Amino acid sequence: MSVTRELIERFATVVGDKNALRDEADTAAYGHELRKLFKGRTPLVLRPGSVGEVAAILKLATEMGTPVVPQGGNTGLVGGQTPDDSGTQIVLSLSRLAAIRELDEDAGTMTVEAGAILQTVQERAADKGFLFPLSIASQGSAQIGGILSTNAGGVNVLAYGNARDLCLGVEVVLPTGEVMHDLKKLRKDNTGYDLKSLFIGAEGTLGVITAAVLKLVPQPRGRQVAWAGVSDPAAALHLLRRSTAAAGGSLSAFELMADSAVRLAEKHMSGVRVPIQSDTPWHVLIEISSGRSEEEARSLAEEILGAALEDDVVSDAALAASIAQGASFWQVRETIPDAQRVEGASIKHDISVPLSDIPAFIEEAGRVVAREVPEGRLMCFGHMGDGNLHFNVQGPAGAGEEFLAKWKALNTAVHAVVRRYEGSFAAEHGIGKLKRDELGETADPVSLEIMRRIKRTLDPAKIMNPGKLI
Ligand SMILES: Cc1cc2nc3c(=O)[nH]c(=O)nc-3n(C[C@H](O)[C@H](O)[C@H](O)COP(=O)(O)OP(=O)(O)OC[C@H]3O[C@@H](n4cnc5c(N)ncnc54)[C@H](O)[C@@H]3O)c2cc1C
Repeated sequence: MSVTRELIERFATVVGDKNALRDEADTAAYGHELRKLFKGRTPLVLRPGSVGEVAAILKLATEMGTPVVPQGGNTGLVGGQTPDDSGTQIVLSLSRLAAIRELDEDAGTMTVEAGAILQTVQERAADKGFLFPLSIASQGSAQIGGILSTNAGGVNVLAYGNARDLCLGVEVVLPTGEVMHDLKKLRKDNTGYDLKSLFIGAEGTLGVITAAVLKLVPQPRGRQVAWAGVSDPAAALHLLRRSTAAAGGSLSAFELMADSAVRLAEKHMSGVRVPIQSDTPWHVLIEISSGRSEEEARSLAEEILGAALEDDVVSDAALAASIAQGASFWQVRETIPDAQRVEGASIKHDISVPLSDIPAFIEEAGRVVAREVPEGRLMCFGHMGDGNLHFNVQGPAGAGEEFLAKWKALNTAVHAVVRRYEGSFAAEHGIGKLKRDELGETADPVSLEIMRRIKRTLDPAKIMNPGKLI
């Protein structure tokens, strides 16, 4: 159904002229994400400034059957936030709904609006001695609404959980314009279905999150970042078990990286240097956070790595001597995706498998890669502590479209291995446009049917983010 000029004006009236972008020069940036892998166009971007305005927009959209694409910081990697190229989908930007409504120090909660930037939330929490532990490389742009709608993970899931675990309540506008007020600060609440969880990870297909209650934790008093070289993923798994046993909940990150990936970061990213220079096929970054002191964090890391060196579980190790050096260790890990972009085209897999199967998975899926794309180079890295790997395959230097043409075939072959290990082919970044068909083809039929029934019930006019997820 086309969006008539008259309808555009009706929507514009809700938010006021200034916040209804209609000129292509203004709307173009909302039609694609940074990498331009997902491109579309929209006749209208609405920037509501209140929950009431969001409600009025969705009510009108349901009445008129107008498709609505919610958009936060536009950093999603699976195309969920991008309109299609029909020119009929309007974009609902949450950027103006960005207030921090309350920080309750006794409850350890922060109530924020959906458009609040993750980094701002972290900074406001830190000002009061708290930590909002969700941390991802896009935190300078990603918004809380987007974070929750994708159930974002990041580097601290091991200790603190993902977005769903860090959210106590939500306020959601339904496609009908009704508002679900569920901004509870409760740590315990067994009053029926967990409705907030329906909207977390729903990728904007069921309603628009307008605010949330976030869980804060005390700022750790000490942090120690360490780096270790290991011979293979089995040794990394062994090190993970030892680290968990020694540090328990203080183990806040455990990242695995293939040597190929860290050397690529070193090659392309200025100032990036791998902390150990000895030959090792795999690297591990460990972070220990202590509620007590720097000394405790450091001595835990020393104890873990000292024993692991003695027992030949690791071949080499380095402890960061300062906060700045710890940040430089992290920089190696975090710049791998950028280095991959500079090197040329790569095919990505965002998978998870049970921790115990990681070594076998890497070996088996590695063989599949060698068979399907012999010219490809495996750049495996990721949040091993969560069983989540970015099992990426880099084309030859400077590779482009020709290599990317193998994306679907390689994904299919690697995801078949993921399924054999009862893993997930969308561990962290969601389904969006990118994996929608595959979800439809491979999900458990009963689970899929439940999702469809929920969608039909909440969004009978099918206006919410059509073409995404389901
Ligand atoms: C460099 C980089 C690093 C990244 N690292 C990680 C990482 O480590 N872990 C991780 O999980 N992700 C990561 N991401 C992916 C991305 O940053 C996250 O998915 C983030 O949560 C998206 O937030 P956003 O505000 O940009 O949402 P958008 O990209 O704007 O939207 C994402 C989805 O949420 C929906 N949506 C947005 N706001 C709302 C709302 N208020 N109500 C309902 N639906 C809404 C959109 O329709 C879309 O489906 C990374 C991305 C980049 C570019």
